Amino acid sequence: MEVNGIVLSPDPRLREECAPIEEITPEIERLIQKMKDEMFENGGCGLAAPQVGELVQLVVIDTSYTGKHDYDPWVLINPVIVEQSDTKLPFCEGCLSIPGINCEISRPDHVVVEAYDPKGDLMRYEAGTADGSEADLTCVCLQHEIDHLHGKTMFDRLLPGDRIAAMKRYQEALARGAKPGETSVE
Ligand code: ZN
Repeated sequence: MEVNGIVLSPDPRLREECAPIEEITPEIERLIQKMKDEMFENGGCGLAAPQVGELVQLVVIDTSYTGKHDYDPWVLINPVIVEQSDTKLPFCEGCLSIPGINCEISRPDHVVVEAYDPKGDLMRYEAGTADGSEADLTCVCLQHEIDHLHGKTMFDRLLPGDRIAAMKRYQEALARGAKPGETSVE
C-alpha cells in the first residue's frame, strides 16, 4: 500500500533485507533525487529506499531544515553503524511509513556511521552525546533509517506488550485516514 508516494506498514517491502549498492548509476542518482523530494514533500527528517519501494541500501537524512532554502540532506549509501554507545535513551519517534502515531523507543545515545556519499567517497558520521543527557534527533534518525534497510520498523523495537498497543493505535490512525507526515493523534 502506498500513500503520497510512501510505502505504508505493513507492506511486505518494509520487511525485506535491502541489497547493497554496487555502483552509482544514473538510476541511483534519480532515486536519490526522488527520495529527497519525497522526504521534503512529506515533511520527514529521514527516508530509506524501501519506503519508496526500492530495496537498496540508500538513506537520506536532514534533521535541521526549516524550509527549502536550507534543505540539503545527507545521502548515505550502504550505511553501517560502526560504533554505538551502551547507554540508551528514549525518544518519541515517528515514521512516514507508519503515519498517525508516535512510539517511544530506547536506542543507543551515540553512534558512528560509515557510508558512501553520491560521489563514492567513504564518509563518517557521528551523532549523539554519549553522556546520557538528552536524546539527539540525528542519532535516533540514523538508527531508525538504517533499521529500514534491514527490514525493521519501529514496531520491531518496541517491547511485545507495547507493540500490540501501538499496532492498535496505528490501525485506528489508518482508519481515520492518517497520511505520511502525521505523527500525533488528531
Ligand atoms: Zn521510518
